[in-house]
Amino acid sequence: MKRCEGNVAVITGGSRGIGAAVALRLAEEGADIVITYESSAERAADMVEQIKARGRRALAVQADSAVPEALTAAVDEAAATFGRLDILVNNAAVFLVSPLDDLSPSDIDRTLAVNVRAPLVASQAAARHMGRGGRIISIGSNVADRAPFPGLALYSMSKTALVGMTKGLARELGPRGITVNLVHPGPTDTDANPADGPNAETIAGLTALGRYAESTEIAATIAHLASEDGRYITGASLHVDGGFTV
Ligand code: NDP
Repeated sequence: MKRCEGNVAVITGGSRGIGAAVALRLAEEGADIVITYESSAERAADMVEQIKARGRRALAVQADSAVPEALTAAVDEAAATFGRLDILVNNAAVFLVSPLDDLSPSDIDRTLAVNVRAPLVASQAAARHMGRGGRIISIGSNVADRAPFPGLALYSMSKTALVGMTKGLARELGPRGITVNLVHPGPTDTDANPADGPNAETIAGLTALGRYAESTEIAATIAHLASEDGRYITGASLHVDGGFTV
């Protein structure tokens, strides 16, 4: 049985990587899909075709998550186009690894705007459209709980902020029947962190399973949380990290 039949999902940063895998998985579970992207118009258009090939409706919206008005407009457009909104996946993020001394104020502002402010702004916009059964799922990181090498202070800080946001929103939206959760992926083979990258062997060695995840392995947990099966999970931080944090 398809577990998200009749639902509409918005995935920020759905043109590539984990966001694209989530978009395809939720489409296979029966949801109509809206993805946002920053600059990959061709890849976003290809995603729309792939989703339609799975029998679902699809829309790609260019919206820089750093711009609150653009993000809110994208969420509103999703609800207006498909008539409802059930699932929000806050996925888009900046992954900046840098020594402390090299971080500029604009680096800090950009990371916080995309990784922290945007999930809250998108959640605010999405919750206005959601009824009972609504789902807000954010993508955190394994390095929210364990910073295994230098240069992660800003990125780790941004992902740890989502723990508090998730708990606060879960408490606030619970009475409306909306669940709010956070998924911390481990090292996952994407453009941002390729499994054949220069440090990949070391990073894979930090997991208990000794390997990178495929994006589909992260998407599987998102699908569970998004579906009726996940209805009693809220305010949680779930590690899908191959044991990176054990
Ligand atoms: P990718 O770099 O492969 O893809 C990033 C996606 O986000 C793209 O669709 C990109 O759009 C979009 N995006 C980036 N910045 C913006 C922006 N300002 N506005 C709108 N869209 C934007 O990343 P991953 O798939 O690897 O990462 C996805 C999530 O998973 C992130 O939250 C990341 O922090 C997290 N994560 C990833 C891990 C990994 O090992 N890969 C590990 C732990 C967490 P466009 O194509 O237009 O650039």
